[in-house]
Amino acid sequence: MSDDSVDFLHSGPLAPLKKWGTKWSLWPVHLVTACCGVELAHAYASGYDGERLGSLNYGIARQTNLIIVEGAITRKMARVLKITYEQMPEPKFVIVMGACGLKGGLFWNGYHMVRPSDVVPVDFFIPGCPPTPEALLRAIRSLQEKIVSGEARNTIEFEKYDLSKINVRGEQPLKPPSPKHYSPTPPIKVDVPKEVDWSFGKKLIAELKSDLEGLYKSITITDKNRIAIQAEKDDVVALASKLSKRFDHVKNVNVIDIPHEYSFIVEYQISSYSVKELMPVVVNLFARIPRNNPRFPSLAVFWPSADYLEREMYDLFGVWFEGNSAMGERFLLAPDTPEFPLRKDRKLREEIYSEVE
Ligand code: SF4
Repeated sequence: MSDDSVDFLHSGPLAPLKKWGTKWSLWPVHLVTACCGVELAHAYASGYDGERLGSLNYGIARQTNLIIVEGAITRKMARVLKITYEQMPEPKFVIVMGACGLKGGLFWNGYHMVRPSDVVPVDFFIPGCPPTPEALLRAIRSLQEKIVSGEARNTIEFEKYDLSKINVRGEQPLKPPSPKHYSPTPPIKVDVPKEVDWSFGKKLIAELKSDLEGLYKSITITDKNRIAIQAEKDDVVALASKLSKRFDHVKNVNVIDIPHEYSFIVEYQISSYSVKELMPVVVNLFARIPRNNPRFPSLAVFWPSADYLEREMYDLFGVWFEGNSAMGERFLLAPDTPEFPLRKDRKLREEIYSEVE
């Protein structure tokens, strides 16, 4: 197909027909990332019957033209989102569902959250937690209106090929052009220091560096109101003792399991309720520990809100927080739950089938 033919398809008398076809042929790829996926299932089940609007969920990226991002996108999923988007043919569209996809939602201060709009171009956002099925169908209708009223989209590049060279009888046959090697662009990295317009943060970092000298491995601004302090496990208590003079509570305790590096990362997210300028600031204090000896000093003595979070992490990952007197009892999980279920090497129980007499 020549460039003229492509232009003709996009702007000539056939253009409305092409738009009409795209409008009624939306094939959303299944990319369930979080609980918003339940609402998507609801929108496409018998009650709302999303298919009647000309869109049908499908499982293979290369035959789809719409991604509905269903809620939270984590660092790991960001790569999957990018690869999926790049595999889809043009013209393609993106709808993002839920508060998590807009600004992180209830995980807004999580270390692992990525905004989908930083990874792929987004056509429509649907607010809510979760948004209703009606809201999703409304977004589909809005997208259809956008397709019909907007400019035709197509970024496919056709390779020019000299047809006169193709396999004339008696000549050496030519090989067809080989497809281009597919190499997805990596998604943005979210854990590198950022240059942000945050003068208070720069002043704060300078103060922290002088206060905590000799106790940390690195202190970086990872975003506005976000500071990361990396330390050795043995220095964490001394660090917490100094930091607790500025920051009065722990918002979250996280454990990140990295089996291929034989380690866990333990992370405390600390902030302040009492100093106005520090209220929006979240400091991630983290250290690595070996996976075969998962012990970490409890920081509940400095920040009492860490107490139940540490016990929760023991239930889920088996990291023992030394000095937390309540550690050891099953705290969060039901008694018959398997041990440390969030460890990545935990095997799922296989279904047991038995013959019925
Ligand atoms: S917006 Fe709410 S329902 Fe949707 S993924 Fe986030 S937490 Fe779940």
